[in-house]
Amino acid sequence: MSGLPCPLRLATRPLPASLKPVVRLPPRTGPFGAFDTFGWRWGPNLTIDENLLRLALVVRFNCLRVANYTSGRCSAIMARPPRQLNETHVDIEVVGFGINAPPRFAPRRVAHETKVPGVRHFFQGAANNEIHSEMQIIGRCAREGIPVRGAWFYIALAPCWDCCKALVAAGAARVLFKGRGRRAPKPMKANSREQLFAEANDMAWVHADFSEEREAYVDAMWDAYKQELGLDRAAVKAQASAEPL
Ligand SMILES: [Zn+2]
Repeated sequence: MSGLPCPLRLATRPLPASLKPVVRLPPRTGPFGAFDTFGWRWGPNLTIDENLLRLALVVRFNCLRVANYTSGRCSAIMARPPRQLNETHVDIEVVGFGINAPPRFAPRRVAHETKVPGVRHFFQGAANNEIHSEMQIIGRCAREGIPVRGAWFYIALAPCWDCCKALVAAGAARVLFKGRGRRAPKPMKANSREQLFAEANDMAWVHADFSEEREAYVDAMWDAYKQELGLDRAAVKAQASAEPL
């Protein structure tokens, strides 16, 4: 159809009242079906970008559902660029979720039983056994035959150098992330090597402006989750599954 707004235009401005979002999340039966969205709901007054960034931030709570794992400082979602279907509806498809965590399909038993000196430590500790959220999504999509090319990623933090290269290699078209800082923005390095590399390879690199409302939203979601499970981190952790998501 001609005359329909481009995905970027759709994503960065509040949708006009005449346009209704059709939001599709990964199916429960699919490879991302074990992830929870903790009551996240579409905010009709927010842009598509803001809605999906908030979803990416809330998805981080899934880190607490992985047993014996306490890291998980980042999370991400992968979405298709929004597409106007007709005069009244916009298709918004979220394809995948990811958290910083150990990989689901790692041969964990073998890893834990490894006795080889100088190797065993590689399998211990969050810093050694986790895969970053962006890589989790790319890896699981590769495993399941889900295309990544052209996809948009919403990420809690700026992708690290390794994830940046992997996102470019997989053909991601756009990454949007929240900068550091919970109460106030922390300055972001402009023209980092990640940004320069991304832009040189036609992957849009978007640092979302700091938003107190967004921080308050995520805090409230977190409080509600803790309340539901007994207000204490141990109680939340006790709900964790023995299997990675
Ligand atoms: Zn990374």
